[in-house]
Amino acid sequence: MTNGKQPNLRIPGPVPLPDDVLQLVGSQMINHRGPEYADMLDRMTANLRTVFMTTNDVYFITASGTGAMETAVVNTISPGDQVLSISVGVFGDRFREIAEAYGANVTNLDFELGHAADPEKVRETLKGMGDCKAVVFTHNESSTGVANPLEELCKVIREESDALILLDAVSSAGGMPIAVDAWGIDVVATASQKSWVAPPGIAMVTFSKRAWDAHAKSTTPKYYYDVQQYEDYLKIGQPPFTPCLPVMYAIENSLEAMVAEGIETVFARHHAIAEHTRDGARSLGLELLPEERFASNTVTAIKLPEDIDGKEFLARVRRDFNVILGGGQKSLTGKIFRIGHMGWVETAHIDEALEAAGRTLRVMGG
Ligand code: PMP
Repeated sequence: MTNGKQPNLRIPGPVPLPDDVLQLVGSQMINHRGPEYADMLDRMTANLRTVFMTTNDVYFITASGTGAMETAVVNTISPGDQVLSISVGVFGDRFREIAEAYGANVTNLDFELGHAADPEKVRETLKGMGDCKAVVFTHNESSTGVANPLEELCKVIREESDALILLDAVSSAGGMPIAVDAWGIDVVATASQKSWVAPPGIAMVTFSKRAWDAHAKSTTPKYYYDVQQYEDYLKIGQPPFTPCLPVMYAIENSLEAMVAEGIETVFARHHAIAEHTRDGARSLGLELLPEERFASNTVTAIKLPEDIDGKEFLARVRRDFNVILGGGQKSLTGKIFRIGHMGWVETAHIDEALEAAGRTLRVMGG
């Protein structure tokens, strides 16, 4: 359906790209130490700040989303620092693992899969922790379709501690509001292949004044992900290392388009398509994994009927309808399926995916 005979790719990233973006990605290379790059970086930096509602520093790093998360950790945390990890799924666990890999002393606060983090439990945990250097957590848990109550969580963390807020917003940023300055978020990590209508390859981070203070004291060894390198080179309109230019072209285009459309409109559009997806799933008689109020606006996780073999279901949807759905991860494997609806997505893409799911379930007797 998308791009001629290509499958309808409905996983929660990488997202399908419209033809104009595909063309842009195939356009000629430029000198990354020349004036065109400096102009492009300047516009991209300003537009990314607009999307994040921040005056903080923002950087583009050639890496995937995990690289952005690692950037958050290595620049602010030192070995032995107390860190609170709040996890509601696979990606929350990954953030904890990165903090642990760099020697942080991590306290875990995990919530059941399909549930959101409870701000009052976060408050209690912080009260019991003493000196907490940073809190690491996921905004939008792509593995369960849960959007954590970000503003409330930030408020509680700010009230109860001086901890830095390090946020994995890989699958929410660009599709859901993140008011970095108003909510006091120190580092936001995101990546190009999600709501930014671009291929994988570029990580983006925001970095606050408090994060810079922590950077000055951080003893963690770092080189490629040292934000100081990105900052020093930004001043001369360059990247420290050769960037993934085709992806930069696509993000530049998306950022311009998002700012022109108005970020509130972009977020409202994601909300509307998410509601359409949730309504469609319910009208097939299916149940969502998360509670409605915590359901994500970029990815919907839907429970499979118990008698359905999840692996076979995904394979049939692909074979019979040319629709690629996301499966469950870890303990949710075979129990749920996921529909991505971030970036460039039309109602017809979702309707086709839902119809494919519904017809396949009927054939399979679900
Ligand atoms: N966090 C979240 C919430 C994600 O959805 C993903 C990617 N699915 C990641 C982190 C990791 O990003 P990447 O695969 O680009 O390293």
